[in-house]
Amino acid sequence: MSRSPHVRVEIDLQQIAANVRAVATTTTVPVIAVVKADAYGLGAEQVAKAIAGDVSAFYVFELREAVEAKLKDLGRDTICVLGDSSDPEDYICHGVRPVVWTRERAIALRAARPVLSVDTGQQRFGCAIEDVGELVRLGGCDEAFTHATRLEQVSLFGTVTEGNGLRRHAAGTSLLSEPTARFDAVRPGLALYRNAVRVTTRLVDARKTLGPAGYTRFTSDRHGVILCGYSNGLRPGVCLINGQRRTIIEVGMQSAFVELRAGDKVGDEVTLLDRADLSPEVLARCWNYSAQEVLVRLCGSGERTWQPLP
Ligand SMILES: *Cc1c(COP(=O)(O)O)cnc(C)c1O
Repeated sequence: MSRSPHVRVEIDLQQIAANVRAVATTTTVPVIAVVKADAYGLGAEQVAKAIAGDVSAFYVFELREAVEAKLKDLGRDTICVLGDSSDPEDYICHGVRPVVWTRERAIALRAARPVLSVDTGQQRFGCAIEDVGELVRLGGCDEAFTHATRLEQVSLFGTVTEGNGLRRHAAGTSLLSEPTARFDAVRPGLALYRNAVRVTTRLVDARKTLGPAGYTRFTSDRHGVILCGYSNGLRPGVCLINGQRRTIIEVGMQSAFVELRAGDKVGDEVTLLDRADLSPEVLARCWNYSAQEVLVRLCGSGERTWQPLP
C-alpha cells in the first residue's frame, strides 16, 4: 500500500540510539536489535544504520528483510528466522545467520553459523527441549535463544542449554528488567522505539454538529474531520489537538471524525501518536492491542521523516 501524504510520521533516530545505549547500560549485556517488520514501521534501514555502532547483531523475521534494509553493509551479523533456501551461501552472502530448529536445516545450514531456536512454550519456530544437544552438534551451533515471555520459560531454557558453551539470549522487551533472563545478550524490539515517534495529521474540516452525524449518528457540539482512517491503522479513542486531549469519535476507511472545542479550526495539527500521554502503550490500552501493533499500524502507512523530535 502506498503511504498517505496526509499522515506525517516523524522518527527520532537519536532517541532510538539513546534507547539502545540505555538498554545496554541497565542490562550490562550486548543488545541484539530487533528490526523486523521494517523496525516496527519506523524504517529498518534508517534505524539499523543509526544504531549499528551500539548493537552486537540485528534480528529480523525473513531473509528478504535483511536484504532490503541492507543490513550486511553495517558490519554486524543478522539473525533471521525464515528463509526458503537450504544453501548456506544464500545466507552468508547477506551477512545472515539463519535460525534452525530441525535436523534437516541444522545439517544443511551448518556452514552459515546457524543459531538454534529452542521452544520453551511458544510451540512455533523452535526445537523440542530434548533435541537441543543433538541439534547443537549437527548444526555446529555456538548460539541459542528462546522466545520467552515468562520466567519459567527462561529457567527451562537456562537448564537445557547449560554447559555447551553457547552464547545465549532470551529476553525481549517484556523480560528486560529480569536479571535471570539476560544470559549473554538481550533481544528487544519495542523498548528500542520508545519516545521516538510522533504521528500527526491536520483538521481538514471543522464545524458545528447539526443533529446526529456519521455512520453511528453521533452527537457532539462541534466536530472536525481528519484524513486518516482505519486503512491507516487508526481506531476510535484519543488524540491531541493543539496539545489538548480530544476524542476520536468515529473512524472510517480513510477519514475520521474528531470532537472539537471552540477555537479548534481547519489546519490545526492533530496528534495521533506521541510520547507521554499519547504513547503506544497508552493507545494499546485504549484499543486493546499490543504497543507493538499500535506502532506497526500507525507508522506503517504515513509519510515518514527521520529527524530529532522537538
Ligand atoms: C519480535 C521478537 C522479539 C522482540 O519483541 P519485543 O517484545 O518487541 O521486544 C524478540 N525475540 C523474538 C524471537 C521476536 O520474534
